[in-house]
Amino acid sequence: MLSSFDWLRRSRTGAELIVTLKYLEERPDLFSGEEEIGPPHSALNGPCRRCWLYSRQPEQPYCPACQLILDNVGRFAPVSRHAILIWGYVNQLPKQLHPGRGFQEHRILYTYIHDDHRFLLAMYRRGLKPWLQELALYHGDTLKGMLQIFPTMGAGEQTGMSDILCRAIHREADFSRDRLRVKFFADAYEVLRTQDREREGILIFEIADFLSVLEMAAIFRTVLRPEEQKIIYELLRMEDVEEEKFYWGRLLGQLNQEAKDMLNAWKIRSWPPGRVKLLYELIDYVVFYRTD
Ligand SMILES: [Zn+2]
Repeated sequence: MLSSFDWLRRSRTGAELIVTLKYLEERPDLFSGEEEIGPPHSALNGPCRRCWLYSRQPEQPYCPACQLILDNVGRFAPVSRHAILIWGYVNQLPKQLHPGRGFQEHRILYTYIHDDHRFLLAMYRRGLKPWLQELALYHGDTLKGMLQIFPTMGAGEQTGMSDILCRAIHREADFSRDRLRVKFFADAYEVLRTQDREREGILIFEIADFLSVLEMAAIFRTVLRPEEQKIIYELLRMEDVEEEKFYWGRLLGQLNQEAKDMLNAWKIRSWPPGRVKLLYELIDYVVFYRTD
């Protein structure tokens, strides 16, 4: 019989994973394992062609649970594109695992509790900052462990969402649970190849440090227009120092005082490339500050 976790591991794409999380939460009966096991694989017959365990429905290639998941994948593809997954391995389950269980309305989509120390959350990526802030505020230093944050992946990739999830779990205990840390991946495939992020120093953070970069990303996004952000990114990557100086001077002449003050205070021109990359990766995870 397949456990809830086995069902999650059947997901190839992020949309499949999110739909499976949804139905595990809303229709657990569907996955209870009381269905009939399908016949062994043969030329003319066999079990469901997705889970390879349960009986197919009459005249159909899939069992009822797989059919329901696959029928809903299209509807959840747009949700998946804006979603992130968080695999938590912690000393105690935090309170903020369900919508409405905190100080503010979280943008959590679905939750799977694996055991007393592990959980999987799907949430909208722009909900990450308020969620982490609340976690840090509410639990203080009592919550310890590792939160691995990674986006979902679409169809057509060589590796599937299940490979990503299994690798994240395999590496969950890399660090001692003496404090709360965050492992951040901007792309799902990076979970399989962590070397680049590790070398650039943008893989593992203590929660306060990660929150401070998220905060900077929110300010950056609010103060600078998208085309200004783009120009700054190009300038920060320039190798010719004289040229960079010239264009930087020209840019400063065009920016408003607030933007100039921010860039000067942050000393962004002397940041290592990894930090710049992380700031830009996180822009998509934060909302504008309202300035009125
Ligand atoms: Zn099936």
